[in-house]
Amino acid sequence: MSDCLFCRMVAGDVPATVVHETDRVFAFRDINPQAPTHVLVIPKDHHRNAAALAAADPGLLADIVSAARQVAEQEGLVAGDGIEPGFRIVTNTGPQAGQSVDHVHLHVLGGRDLHWPPG
Ligand code: AMP
Ligand code: ZN
Repeated sequence: MSDCLFCRMVAGDVPATVVHETDRVFAFRDINPQAPTHVLVIPKDHHRNAAALAAADPGLLADIVSAARQVAEQEGLVAGDGIEPGFRIVTNTGPQAGQSVDHVHLHVLGGRDLHWPPG
């Protein structure tokens, strides 16, 4: 989708700080980080949100969750043993949840205490 920001990032037309990439998944740092680690994990294929992706290609949804875990590990948020620092995966779905880019993305947040519940 040439009018989709994240599709344009996957295509290399808009710069991204890439932290992880496979043939199906792309992960890059959020331009406006809300925590020391704030990475967006997306499928390279365009799906407008998590609900649409779950309906169309559940295996790809599993791939982005798996990539999110790998990113968290790379960022030092998953300990081998002992106490894990932890992290949060968020996917805003639809306008009332504050979704601002209509290409499904997982936010991977960590590196500080995260409040609950979110706003
Ligand atoms: P959401 O509001 O949940 O749809 O999340 C969209 C996220 O995309 C926000 O956290 C933005 O900061 C982030 N974002 C928007 N443009 C860019 C960009 N060019 N590079 C990296 N992150 C971006
Ligand atoms: Zn897209």
